[in-house]
Amino acid sequence: MRASEATQIYFDRAADQLDLSTDMRRLLLTAKREVQVQIPIERDSGELATFIGYRVQHNDARGPMKGGLRYHPQVDLDEVRGLAALMTWKTAVVDIPYGGAKGGVAIDPARFSQRELERITRRFVDAIHDLFGPDVDIPAPDMGTTGDVMAWIMNQYGKYHGFSPACVTGKPVEYHGIAGREEATGRGVGSLTLKLLSRLGRRIPGTRVAIQGFGNVGSHTAKFLHDAECRIVAVSDAGGGFLRTEGFDVLELLRHAHAHGGRLDGFKGGDPLTNADLLACDCDVLVPAALGGVITAANAGSIKAPIVVEGANAPTEPDADAILDSRGIVVLPDILANAGGVTASWFEWVQNRQHYQWGINRVRQELDRILGEAFEQVWQLSSGRRVPLRTAAYMVGVGRVARATVLGGIA
Ligand code: NAD
Repeated sequence: MRASEATQIYFDRAADQLDLSTDMRRLLLTAKREVQVQIPIERDSGELATFIGYRVQHNDARGPMKGGLRYHPQVDLDEVRGLAALMTWKTAVVDIPYGGAKGGVAIDPARFSQRELERITRRFVDAIHDLFGPDVDIPAPDMGTTGDVMAWIMNQYGKYHGFSPACVTGKPVEYHGIAGREEATGRGVGSLTLKLLSRLGRRIPGTRVAIQGFGNVGSHTAKFLHDAECRIVAVSDAGGGFLRTEGFDVLELLRHAHAHGGRLDGFKGGDPLTNADLLACDCDVLVPAALGGVITAANAGSIKAPIVVEGANAPTEPDADAILDSRGIVVLPDILANAGGVTASWFEWVQNRQHYQWGINRVRQELDRILGEAFEQVWQLSSGRRVPLRTAAYMVGVGRVARATVLGGIA
């Protein structure tokens, strides 16, 4: 199924509950602007290479559009379109004053040198610098992009528009970034997992967690939940994974990944496991934190975890979601579960604009408060209306965007 189709199915379920008119649905589903640009660079070898860059600005009814930039071979316009809409509902669920956007370049960053990635990034900014900015659309990291990429974006944007650190978030702390942004998505996934466990009346210490993906989101989720005395029993990345029923020493995993370019292969402290087996492994909480579309109708029946927390964007296809629901598996949806990243990005933007710095404790405190309030709202709506958490989260998000659209006026 196409990524944008999946997002629309979830949107429709909420729109039915909210009784939204056909006209309003059409308005909310249509992207404000979609761009596709050519990115030619000279490779280190002297060869010419040309790539395609995408930016979809979905909706700005509640504020400047906000969303990550992805470097991954599977990036295409449809994926970016689906993820941009997801950002609109996500910023609205946590009630931060942003709309939604997303961008990407269809490359495998592992196959390029840092200098080549820098050239790709700067050429992309050259092509779209008039279309984004602090009050319009603010990119951030996503799969395959790091703080370095965000620093190049800020620097290149500044060549056209002057010093504007708030034009992009997720920058390195030493270059106008903020303490606490890098860990924020994983911290949010972890803290919301604990809230969900408590609401479901489950004991936290010893909870067995399996995490797919050990990049920014997966590794910080593992660390947070390990610190909360959960047992991380399975982890994986693009090269495969590992199982350890007694639980990993997460610091050892982090040290290994750090020493091996972020990768897990070669780790000696667990039994090898495929990504397919990880999804079906015996655990209490499954956290997909890598690619989208990994939980499908074909494997949803084999998932043993009673709880799925979506660290990744769009990891569950709608058919699979229905199967999980019918099996009584509780799913904490992406637009709430991984909203910690965009929330901390907002803190970075606020601090950049004020030329002021908060300490890490304030960042964590505000993050936990905002996510906690959003979780309670979604939980109450889900219980009150007897709808899954995903539908409730979409109802909160879509409802807020629809109200802002009416209040702002259309003419
Ligand atoms: P990342 O690039 O830091 O890490 C991605 C991880 O996924 C790596 O460990 C990689 O090896 C692994 N991976 C890639 N292909 C895989 C495959 N086929 N099977 C298993 N693992 C695979 O990316 P990230 O920032 O951690 O993002 C992960 C997910 O979280 C994405 O869906 C992204 O959209 C979402 N997300 C990220 C943020 C953020 O702040 N970084 C915020 C919200 C949502």
